[in-house]
Amino acid sequence: MIAGGGLGGGLGATSLMLQERLSLLNESLQGAEQREAQVEEAQRLRHQRHVAALRHLTGQVKAALEKIEEGTYGRCDACGREIPKGELTREPATTLCPPCRGHDAPSD
Ligand SMILES: [Zn+2]
Repeated sequence: MIAGGGLGGGLGATSLMLQERLSLLNESLQGAEQREAQVEEAQRLRHQRHVAALRHLTGQVKAALEKIEEGTYGRCDACGREIPKGELTREPATTLCPPCRGHDAPSD
């Protein structure tokens, strides 16, 4: 199967993968938000953290998809440098290079 749409270099596949992830995240987020009304007070804080993490991930995936559309995918949001390919393979939704995320680039 070939994903076209003018996206060269296999970005079509990345885009599809991110879209799939986005719909999964949206489902989890919806379910989590519905449960939020039912959980006990003691669980609430933990649950809110879970929902916040899901929202964060959803935002990242959306941003990555937007970057694919704009043709800026793979470039760091903060410094504008190219994000190492290994990073993108490991985490396709990443929008920051390792130094800007506060990590040093892995030495491999
Ligand atoms: Zn950077």
